[in-house]
Amino acid sequence: MRPITEAYKDFPILHKEHNGHRLIYLDSGATAQIPQMVMDRLTDHMLHHNGNPHRGSHILAIEASEAYENARDRVVEFINAREREEVVFTRNSTESMNLIAHSYGANFVTKGDKIVITVAEHHANLVTWQYVAEKTGSTLEYMYLDESGHLKDGEINKIDESTKIVAFAHVSNVLGMEFPVKELTEKAHSVGAIVVLDGAQSTPHMKVDVQALDCDFFVFSGHKMCASQGIGVLYGKRELLEKMPPFLLGGDMIEYVKEQSTTFNELPYKFEAGTPNAHGAVTLHAAIDYLESFGMDAIDAHEEELVSYVLPKMLEIPHVHVLGSQNPREKHGVIAFTIDDVHPHDVATILDSKGICVRSGHHCAQPLGAFFHVAASTRLSMYLYTRKEDLDAFLEVLKTVRSVMGFKD
Ligand code: PMP
Repeated sequence: MRPITEAYKDFPILHKEHNGHRLIYLDSGATAQIPQMVMDRLTDHMLHHNGNPHRGSHILAIEASEAYENARDRVVEFINAREREEVVFTRNSTESMNLIAHSYGANFVTKGDKIVITVAEHHANLVTWQYVAEKTGSTLEYMYLDESGHLKDGEINKIDESTKIVAFAHVSNVLGMEFPVKELTEKAHSVGAIVVLDGAQSTPHMKVDVQALDCDFFVFSGHKMCASQGIGVLYGKRELLEKMPPFLLGGDMIEYVKEQSTTFNELPYKFEAGTPNAHGAVTLHAAIDYLESFGMDAIDAHEEELVSYVLPKMLEIPHVHVLGSQNPREKHGVIAFTIDDVHPHDVATILDSKGICVRSGHHCAQPLGAFFHVAASTRLSMYLYTRKEDLDAFLEVLKTVRSVMGFKD
């Protein structure tokens, strides 16, 4: 294993200047940066092995198919899926969620059924269920949180005999906290509901084992884990994927097409219509190799150390408030905060003026903002290449924000 301290030098973008300062990237929750090694693998593929996967018997079509399917096998291993039929390539978590909502939700949920989610969900795991509820005449019910971002006592009992789907984030993109997967999954399964786990913010940062999690569906995006944008994954248990109709229609997802009817391809191809993003898959394969050269546990531990370093220091700054748990051990590399009387966009702009990139806004989780009466916040999010000195620079600027805005204390 490589020591995590070596990661920083692998990312050319982290060595550029911005506004006369070294660029400091604290927005990995939005998208992660790309190491040189991933680019080198993509360059080699595109310059020497580029073809359309599954189409044609010439050398380049075969090499492209191999690269694409090898990437699938790498994902299967990475998340410990039972078999490659259970891993479908999509564009991102959002498209994976839409596939589940349209193909499973709209077909296997009916009037009188219930879909249960948490109020902390990303819109990708929320608007999709609003659609299914409206389309099927089912009800969308929310599990609410306490002040510290944990599920309130008793909320789990909203999962009852009428519940068909329970969907929630493995790790929240605002609170950085993990929901109690085991408890929620056991409860869901005990009433015959399926579990949809949004792994967009967990997969890049910790060891994921879909069999151990026992979720029925799991989604994540390559671009949050050092791969390129436009490649994502849907994992689904085979028996569910088998009975679901295709989501997108067209080339490659068919078996036979007659003038008036079509039979569909086997898994996972049934869900992969059109020319796939083989280039993205190559980057995802490389990114997994890259992350595992350090070890997912080491990445997780590194982020825990960073949060333990920066969070208490943030809380010492007057007027700074952190959303959700204040316990560093409960946060996975993501800290959203507000500063009294200062708009989060101003906080982000002041930080940007010193070369520091953070995210501000509603973080695609507006119901969570409404629930906490915080319409917008600023969010820093870290990754394996983040260093304590990046956080020191962030803290120095954070201390000045209110005075820059003209406040005296
Ligand atoms: N779920 C969560 C928890 C996320 O953080 C994100 C990305 N912000 C998504 C889903 C959607 O990911 P993508 O935009 O890559 O589809």
